[in-house]
Formats: sequence, C-alpha cells, structure tokens
Amino acid sequence: MIAVGLMEGRSAVDVELAGVFRDASGMAYKPARYRFTSEVTLTPSDLASSSFALEDVTIGIGFHWERKERQVFRGALRIIKRDAGLTVVNDVPLEEYVTSVISSEMSASCPIELLKAHAVISRSWLLFPKEQPSPGAPAEREPVRAKPQERAAGPEQGSHAREILRWYGREAHPDFDVCADDHCQRYQGITKAFSPEAANAVAATTGEFLRYNSMICDARFSKCCGGITERYSTAWEDQEIRYLESVYDGPEQARSYILETWIRSDPPAYCNTRDSDLLSRILPGFDRETRDFYRWRVEYSPDELADLVKSRVGVDLGPIRDIEALARGPSGRIYRLKLSGERDYLFIGKELEIRRALSRTHLYSSAFVVDKELGRLVLRGAGWGHGVGLCQIGAAVMANEGRTYKEILQHYYRGTTVSA
Ligand SMILES: [Zn+2]
Ligand SMILES: [Zn+2]
Repeated sequence: MIAVGLMEGRSAVDVELAGVFRDASGMAYKPARYRFTSEVTLTPSDLASSSFALEDVTIGIGFHWERKERQVFRGALRIIKRDAGLTVVNDVPLEEYVTSVISSEMSASCPIELLKAHAVISRSWLLFPKEQPSPGAPAEREPVRAKPQERAAGPEQGSHAREILRWYGREAHPDFDVCADDHCQRYQGITKAFSPEAANAVAATTGEFLRYNSMICDARFSKCCGGITERYSTAWEDQEIRYLESVYDGPEQARSYILETWIRSDPPAYCNTRDSDLLSRILPGFDRETRDFYRWRVEYSPDELADLVKSRVGVDLGPIRDIEALARGPSGRIYRLKLSGERDYLFIGKELEIRRALSRTHLYSSAFVVDKELGRLVLRGAGWGHGVGLCQIGAAVMANEGRTYKEILQHYYRGTTVSA
C-alpha cells in the first residue's frame, strides 16, 4: 500500500462515500455525505466497488494552473490531526497508484513502450527512498515544504562577494509517502477514467522496478536532455550515482566535442525531432509555437536582467554587464555562474537556481552560452529540464522507432536491469 497525502491543514473535511466503509471500531458508514473534524480511518468493505469523493482538493499548488477540484479516490481514507489542522491520506495499492499517475501525467496516445518505461520509473522513483535512503541523508524525514538545501559559501573575492548555492531536494513527507500534487507525482485517484493504454502499460510491467546491483534506482527523468544527458550532481548534492551518468542521446558512440560549440549547433540526437505529430502525442496541450526546446534563445537588456535578478533573487546588482559560466556538467548545463552588475556581483548555483534567477518563469535549462549583441545579452541554450536520467522526448522517439521499454531504460540508465 502507498500512503498518498491529499490535503493538509483543514479544520473540517467534507467527504461523500460511495459504498460502505468501516472505522477502526467496526462501525459502518453508509453511502452519504459526512463532515469530519477529528481523526478517523475508514476502510472500504469492498475495494473495487467503493470510493470516496473530496470537495476542494487544491491542485497545482504554487503554479499558474492552481485550482480547486472535486476528486474521487479508491482505497482507505485516513484523517490525521496535526497542529496545523487535519491531514487527509489515501491508502491505495501500488499498481493502482501507478496507473492513476500514468493516466494523469502522460497522454494516452503516447507510444506504448514509452508508457511502459514510464510505469517502471514511476514505480521505482516511488519506492526508492524507502529501500535506500540517500547516503548521508538524516534518518528522519524532512518536513514538507522544507527550505531548499542551501550552502552559503563565504566571500570568495572581496568583502561584498555573495554566493547562492542551492538545490531542491526531494523532501519526504512525515505523514505519508507522497503528496498528490506536482511536487511529487500528480495523482488524481479515479477522478478521470484510467486510460486503457495506461492500464495496459502498468499491467504489462506489474511489479517491475529499475535496478542497479539489485537495488531499486532513483529513476530521474526530464523533458529533453538537449543531446547529452546530465549527471546527478549538476542538479543535486555532490554525489555520483553510477546509473545517472551522462550519456550521448543517440545511437552512436559519444564523440569528442566542445560544449559551447555543441550548444550552438544542431547536432543529431533522439530528442532532436521535428516530428510534430509525435510531439503532440507526448506533450498534452503542445503548442506549435513552442517547439524550439532542443535549441532555444532568450535575450535581455542589462536593465531588464537587473530587474529580473532583483525580483527573483532579491539582490540588486545594478545593470548586468556579464554572465560567466564557471562550471558546466557534461551536457553543458551550468551549475556555477557569475553575474556581474555595475554595483555588485553574485555567484549562483545549481542548475535550477540559475534557471529560476534568469527568467520570469524558469529558463528551459541551464545549458546555454551568452553572446553580447548590440548591447543586449543573448542566451542560446539546449534542452528542457535538468537533463538527468531518462529524456522523455528521446524516449518517445526510441519507442516510435520500435525499441522496447527495456532497451529505452538501459540506454538512459546504464548498467541497470528491469526486474520484479
Ligand atoms: Zn510531495
Ligand atoms: Zn535527449
């Protein structure tokens, strides 16, 4: 069973039961509406035919698509009392959880081998922290919405030098395994019908995990690597994970290349596709105007960039004169950057913090080169996302070319096997 957190901090929880549920004392709750203001655990008499509905489930917390929705779930309903209010948890079988996630995260018209690969990595990602906490991590779990892990380095040059070095770890939740929102994996119970394709992909891979030396893998994935996948430590803590090493995202051996030249060029790779039919099948709501994620371009004036950095990072550097990449990972993603303004300068890392600081939303990736053209700073970049592990666009192209999900997984996670 997986414990999924559905809501937190409520003073009351409105529930509509479909089917008969029983609490810990054996008391029956008939199909009806209830309002709970204290702890209770309700177990369905029949798992397959019973469900419960919650009003006002907030989805997309902190994103522009945040809204409230009525959602329907199968399995047990647990309400726990905490200082901040009531927490609502749904205990659901693992395979049902994975089917729900695949149905809500991926389009049903994806190639089936991509859905199967996704079922294996969603399942592995979910169970990885239980079986193998990351080395050096504290035994107890961090509270939800913990502050990003941060290391404030001392002044490097001069007394006013500053450095922001932070990454966003995968904070575990103290009262449940995963939350139902984008923070973990989006889970909407049975609110939307499971797509038959998702159900088939999950059934065809039932109980299978991605393993390295028999241990379940921390199966990371992102939208588009940009031609070369990135290593773990560029995005998160300084730790080398063998199966998350960088690989060339194509059929040939990696060649020698100069990263800056690589980013400026349009090299062949699985994820370098202009197949708009395939792209619209894997990216729901795909917009024809935003097809340029393999190689992209953004530009700012020195003043625009100063305002941006001030609003995003809270530091006033004055008009930005220079952006220097101090350290890059093997895909070209920058993980340490120097911003020089007329008033001050700042070092920033790692990749997500750089993307956050240099865009109103987020830059597609931190794999970019900077050119000064007519007084403006032009960023030319590659890829979409952190680039670590499976590349979703590349994996879709591989599936479309007839590769199996195991071949796809072994391409991105070297040295791994797929087994129950
Ligand atoms: Zn979460
Ligand atoms: Zn790729």
